[in-house]
Amino acid sequence: MGNTSDVVIIGGGIVGCATAYLLAKAGLKPTLIEKGSVGNCASGFSAGLLNPLHGSGIPGPLEELARRSFQLHTGLAPEVKDLTGIDHQFRPVPSIYLSFDDDQSNRARDVLDLAERAEGFESRWLDGPEVLSMEPRIAPGVAGGAYVEGTVQVDSYQYTQALLQAARDRGAVMRQGTVRGLRASNGRVSAVALEGEDVSCGSVVLSMGPWSGEAADWLGRPVPVWPLKGQILRLKLPGSQPPCLFTGPGGEYVSPKPDGTTWIGTTEERVGFDDRPTTEAREAIMKDVMELMPAVHQGDLVLQTACLRPASDDGMPVLGSVPGWEGVYMATGAERKGILLSAAMARVTADLVCQGRTDLDIDRFSLERFGG
Ligand SMILES: Cc1cc2nc3c(=O)[nH]c(=O)nc-3n(C[C@H](O)[C@H](O)[C@H](O)COP(=O)(O)OP(=O)(O)OC[C@H]3O[C@@H](n4cnc5c(N)ncnc54)[C@H](O)[C@@H]3O)c2cc1C
Repeated sequence: MGNTSDVVIIGGGIVGCATAYLLAKAGLKPTLIEKGSVGNCASGFSAGLLNPLHGSGIPGPLEELARRSFQLHTGLAPEVKDLTGIDHQFRPVPSIYLSFDDDQSNRARDVLDLAERAEGFESRWLDGPEVLSMEPRIAPGVAGGAYVEGTVQVDSYQYTQALLQAARDRGAVMRQGTVRGLRASNGRVSAVALEGEDVSCGSVVLSMGPWSGEAADWLGRPVPVWPLKGQILRLKLPGSQPPCLFTGPGGEYVSPKPDGTTWIGTTEERVGFDDRPTTEAREAIMKDVMELMPAVHQGDLVLQTACLRPASDDGMPVLGSVPGWEGVYMATGAERKGILLSAAMARVTADLVCQGRTDLDIDRFSLERFGG
């Protein structure tokens, strides 16, 4: 069954599932191959924050891709929810970037500049007492905060499932198995090697998340993508939920969720493929977030999760055609922004597979930048 396909997508995270959906919608018959279960890695356990105005590379080289991706999600998310009935909780949640001194206030104000330039966001500066009137549990030394309306949160596990279901409803095939290599004929990919059999295809998309580095052996060139572990604590706080997302100067956050829990995070750990939750991370997250909101200490721990982000050597995604391999495309390395960037990464990949070109500027994200 299914040993020939127009295009094979390796990896059933959000990037692979969104790509499968767009390709199936364009009339191709993609096969998505996943070694575990769909959404069981970072795409299923992320914080689900969609914010194109803040984070590493923003403002900077990720700004345009992030903004385009955010716009694409506003069409894609309701579309797959309507098609599948899967409620992925895509909803606007305001954000406040807190500062505790002048230097931090200047950095938080960058978000206001970006929000002014971007369509669909409202923003203003709040002084310390205004922040405390919105959430009295914020640390009393707060100097102020950049308040932004228009940022979104999503249940990234359910969103990934909805994208997969929508792709399958349009003819995509899902297979379980581990891909071990690629086959080529005259410089063009001809098949992927699955355990015990080959699946013939015209194109291949490598969306293997933190395992993408394994493709270096298949392609005969460096693919410097590796796992960056992150952990989150899901708490039940006494009293009301925080009214919005609070982000601290070091990137730590407090995020209210529709099920009544409040998530706090996170860590950045270079520990290989070990994805077990740890006591050290629990204590570190609690310590960092207590500086923003001391009351988190009174919360009951409902769940601690850990998972692995796909990180590249320069912190940027790896996107586009693979030099020397006709028909092979990379879509990986989105690190802390993979849920946000997934829509643009899928759009670019589907454009390249279907038309051989894309109108998004992706030159800086090419695998070629790491040498041959
Ligand atoms: C704690 C934490 C919080 C986060 N919060 C956010 C957030 O708020 N917003 C945001 O935008 N991003 C966030 N992220 C980042 C985001 O989760 C990731 O960047 C994104 O999920 C990566 O998606 P992916 O599809 O590239 O990879 P993955 O989700 O890792 O999926 C890759 C899949 O490929 C499969 N695979 C690998 N090799 C093979 C093979 N050889 N054969 C078959 N299958 C294979 C794997 O089993 C896996 O299912 C967070 C990450 C962490 C860790």
